[in-house]
Amino acid sequence: MTAKASIIWTTLLILAGILSLAFLFFTLFPGKVPAVAWQYFTPAEVERARRYQQIMRLVSILSFLAQIAFLVWLVAGTRAASWSEGALRLTGGRYYPALVIYFVLIWLSLKAVGLPFNFYGSFIVQHQWGFSTQSLASWWLDYLKGSVLDLILSGAGVLLLFWATGRWPHTWWAAAGLFLSGWLFVSTFLWPLLIAPLFNRFQPIPEGPVKTMVTQLAGRAGLKVKEVLVMDASRRTTRANAYFTGLGATKRIVLYDTLLAAYPPDEVEAVIAHEMAHWQRGHIVRGLLWGILANFLLLGLLYAVLKLTFTYEIARPGSYPPHLLVAMLLFLQLASFLGQPVQNAISRRYETEADQVALELTGNPGAMIRLQVDLARKNLGDIAPPPYIAWLTSSHPSPLDRIQAAEKWGATR
Ligand SMILES: [Zn+2]
Repeated sequence: MTAKASIIWTTLLILAGILSLAFLFFTLFPGKVPAVAWQYFTPAEVERARRYQQIMRLVSILSFLAQIAFLVWLVAGTRAASWSEGALRLTGGRYYPALVIYFVLIWLSLKAVGLPFNFYGSFIVQHQWGFSTQSLASWWLDYLKGSVLDLILSGAGVLLLFWATGRWPHTWWAAAGLFLSGWLFVSTFLWPLLIAPLFNRFQPIPEGPVKTMVTQLAGRAGLKVKEVLVMDASRRTTRANAYFTGLGATKRIVLYDTLLAAYPPDEVEAVIAHEMAHWQRGHIVRGLLWGILANFLLLGLLYAVLKLTFTYEIARPGSYPPHLLVAMLLFLQLASFLGQPVQNAISRRYETEADQVALELTGNPGAMIRLQVDLARKNLGDIAPPPYIAWLTSSHPSPLDRIQAAEKWGATR
């Protein structure tokens, strides 16, 4: 490793360490919520949501740190390289079979490191707090389905990537960026058709008041909304939510059945209007374009860092040796962690915009405010997370911010 490379890796690790420590600090000591919150929530409600969020934040940061620690442990010693040599010996020196074995080994180890956190956060805690409606068997089935999918897709990705490093030794990162960009579009298009149905059932909303609401809102938004579907979310959770997904012909708004069952019609209208606003403003395509930019940046930086770190291995002809996979994973994990504030700032901007457009569409700030209050109460959303936590991890403005924006919108009419 060159001196420059050690400076880069050390800086990345120290930065991630500082951000994680600050995250831990504000998780344990979140401070006070702004006094304006008491107009909408009781101290008991705020406290309960904070306790729940505290647990979930601890699980997520500890899970991240455990994975990073494991990758550092592999990279720092000779283990990453000796595992890879073991895989090559096992396959009689044949490169691709060795790469596959090595990838599966690393993938399984990372899964094993993450599993306790995953199980605790998405099964045990969810049951303790009364959110989960899932049996243990059904949780495992989800976990297995998701894992097999991930193993196949990321395995194919790794094979292609390492093949590209042999084919285009100096520009593989640009080729990978191009491929990944295309894949981002294809997978966004196909996700609602192929992946989502593996986990849930989707029904078109039946004729009735909600359907009428959709038609009216779509008319006002100037959209041809063909697909509004109800998802059987209640098979896993009591939480309510909705989302907008897909691309072109697969665009759709999905409402959780839990939302329709437990929320009054004008709050459901506010949700649908918010999702339509994402649709009208092209937030998915704009998000994809940001994603493409981030891909190229990340892969270009990855190449630069690998070149400094593994100068000798990279100078040799042929594909990169399999053990570079671990350093790649470590770099990508660290860089995406450090890139989170940017990604979330963009997402929060879109969410704020969608709320504003939704208010224009419904003209009903009161319903929007009650919706945010109900969602925060029932889903135990942190009413006003510490600003640092919001900066690092919030993809949406806080419930209190969204309530105040609706108040402000109402006051100016
Ligand atoms: Zn949204």
